[in-house]
Parts: sequence; structure tokens; C-alpha cells
Amino acid sequence: MIKLKKKVPLIDQHDKYGFWGGKFGGNFIPETLKKPIDDLTENFEKLRNDKNFLKKRDYYFQNYVGSPTRFIKLDNLSDYINGAQIWAKVVSDANGGAHKIYNAVVHALICKSMGKKYIVGDTGAGYAGKMLSMAAKKFGLKCKIFMGAKDIKRQKPNCDAMKKNGAQIIPVYTGSQTLVDAVSECMRYWVSNCDTTHMCVGSTVGPNIFVKICGWSTSQISRELKSQIIEEFGLIPKKLKLYNCVGGGSSSYGFWSDFMDLNKKQVEFIGVEAGGPKKSKKHAAPLTYGSRIGVLHGAMQYVNQDKIGQIEETESISAGLDYPGVSPLHCFLKDTKRARYTAASDEDALKAYQIVTKYESLQPSLEPSHAFHVAISESRKLSKDTIIVVNSCGDAYKDSAILKKRLGKKYDKSN
Ligand SMILES: *Cc1c(COP(=O)(O)O)cnc(C)c1O
Repeated sequence: MIKLKKKVPLIDQHDKYGFWGGKFGGNFIPETLKKPIDDLTENFEKLRNDKNFLKKRDYYFQNYVGSPTRFIKLDNLSDYINGAQIWAKVVSDANGGAHKIYNAVVHALICKSMGKKYIVGDTGAGYAGKMLSMAAKKFGLKCKIFMGAKDIKRQKPNCDAMKKNGAQIIPVYTGSQTLVDAVSECMRYWVSNCDTTHMCVGSTVGPNIFVKICGWSTSQISRELKSQIIEEFGLIPKKLKLYNCVGGGSSSYGFWSDFMDLNKKQVEFIGVEAGGPKKSKKHAAPLTYGSRIGVLHGAMQYVNQDKIGQIEETESISAGLDYPGVSPLHCFLKDTKRARYTAASDEDALKAYQIVTKYESLQPSLEPSHAFHVAISESRKLSKDTIIVVNSCGDAYKDSAILKKRLGKKYDKSN
């Protein structure tokens, strides 16, 4: 039986080979990547214990990211539901409109500390690329973003933003011309240029060290939340439930990490994956629907695959959750039962978006709308002394085209 240790951050609870629970994560990488990864690992371990580096991180979290983001009670929504109290952590207040900026800033700082002037990253829907290009601009780094040619066509607004920030987009024409291929190309480029170039991975996925750096960065969200909760309630409430959508798993890990050592009867974690369209068999919910363990992007994880282990295509209304695998951290949290995972469909997310925007002046993007759906349905059966917090990790502004298409006039009214 694998067990969660108290007092040790989950990002550090892997064995010497990089596996959590002996089976998730690891480093399934070409041999040529071993040296740059070892160098990065050594540097990161130094930097995370370096007071000056921590001071810099805190300074930019506050003065560039805009930390802490708001923790607010959704009074109208709570009154309408008449069950548990519903609160939101408005992480979409952060610069760029989502949590990915925390990770991007830390990677830019690591890049600078290692004396490198170039930073590269991969992106699927374009948000990780956009955030990295913002951080690169802020810290004066030259930035290249690898992106599948098919994704470039689908994600024009984010591509425009990257270019505006001075980043170069490298189109990837191999394979399916999407994220999977962009990751491979980006790693290939990094191997040949690692003396001058740092690589960023946009979520708690990839080889072990990238899971760790990203989780270390987004955990700031739970540090903020913990002190905001204590300020509000005087203590951690007896019944606290933290709802978060799960794509790669960086926002949810960051939202939960500082509460990990508390009993799950007191602080429960609910991860909501993308169930896809109600009528479709395709989904992006490997934890919910019992996908088998396989290797994706250098790490062992639960991943959507066919009988021979080929990665399966996903389908979701929300670009941010449209990923066939999931962080090894969440595979571990599922197996240890510290977190509970479920899925919401495209239609559920759209409905939740409409309910939240009807009652509150908050515009959660389609990713957190998945989490709102489950939070709202479960809150009906709960009493007022239960505190529900939803991580509203993205702003719906980026989804306006799809919301307009799916909701039509109803969307115009909600704005
Ligand atoms: C990228 C993204 C996600 C999914 O990624 P995680 O690593 O699971 O957090 C969710 N919400 C928003 C707004 C995103 O941009």
C-alpha cells in the first residue's frame, strides 16, 4: 500500500528514480536529455533553498503576478443553492488571467539564475505559451514556443499574443501536428541547445523535475488561501471542501498542497476532469474513467490509450483540460485516496457557467466551470457549516468565441 507522508511536500515524496508511490512519474527520456535534466535538478534544489532566490520569487509573485488573488464569498449563489457556503479563490485575477503565470515566472527566474538567455516551451491550446512569452518579456529572455501546426490554426488569439510579446512560434509539422509532437520537438531542440537555453513545461507533467518545479510554483495558491481562510474564519473550518478542475493538474495541486497534511474528513479535495460532450465516448478524464497506466511525455501515469498503448484522442469544450494524461501527483493522490476525482461534461460546464454568471459578477472560464458544476450539485445536500471553495483559475474572456457560439443570446445577457 502506498501512503501519503505528512510534513513532506508531495512533490518530494518520490523515490530516488523519480517515481511517486513507486510507479507514477519517473524519467522516460532519451539518453541525451539526461545531462540537461540532471543539471536542472541540481540547480533547482539549490535555488529553492536560496534565500535570495526566494526573495526574488516572492517579489515577482506580489508585484508582477498580483499575488495574493482574492478569496470571496459567493453570497448570491450560496443563497440560491441554500446548502453549503460557496466561496471562490479568484486565481484568474493573476496577471494573464490564470495560474500558469506562477510557473512561467519561476522558470524565467531559474533560467536567469542559470545564466541562460533563451527559454523554450511547448504549448497546445496556447495558454502555456502565452504565459511563458509574458514572463520572457518581463525578464528580458528570448523565447521560442513549439506548437503543433494544427493547434496554430485553431488558436489564433493566443498565437497573436505570443508574437506581440516578442516570442517566436515554431510550427511542428510531424505526427498529429498537436501538443504531443510539440513536446517532442521542444525537447529535441533543448538537447542541442541546453548550454544557452532553459526549457519550461507548462503543467505538473513531464519528467520528474518539471513536475516538481511546476508544483512548487503553483503551491503559492494554497499558501495564499490558507492564510485567507484563517483570517476569515479564525481557523481551518471543520468541514472544508476544495474543488478544482484537473487537466495536467497544476492548478489543483497548487490549490491543495498546503492542506495535504490535514485529515481528509476535515479538508476534502475534489478534482474535476473534463468528461467531454455527453454524446461522445471521447473524454479527457483518465482518473475518473479508469484509464490504464502508461507513459506520456516522459512519465508514467494514468492515460487514455487503446489496447496496444497508443494514446487516444481526447475531446472537451475546454482547451485547458483537453489532455489525455494527468500529473503523476494526481495518480498518487487517487491511489492513496487523499483526493476524489470525478468528471463534468461539456454541457454541465456550460450550465454551471450560466448559473455562476447569473448570480455573481465572476466570469469563470470553461475549465473552472467544470469544477463549479460539481461544487454546485454537491453543495445542495450539505449544511451551511460546510465551506466549499472553488478555484476559479481562469477568466472566461478567452472563451468568448465558443461561449457565444454555444449560448448565443444567453451569452450576451450574461455579460
Ligand atoms: C491550463 C489550464 C488548466 C489546466 O491545467 P492544469 O495544469 O490542470 O491546471 C485549467 N484552467 C485554466 C484556466 C488553464 O489555463
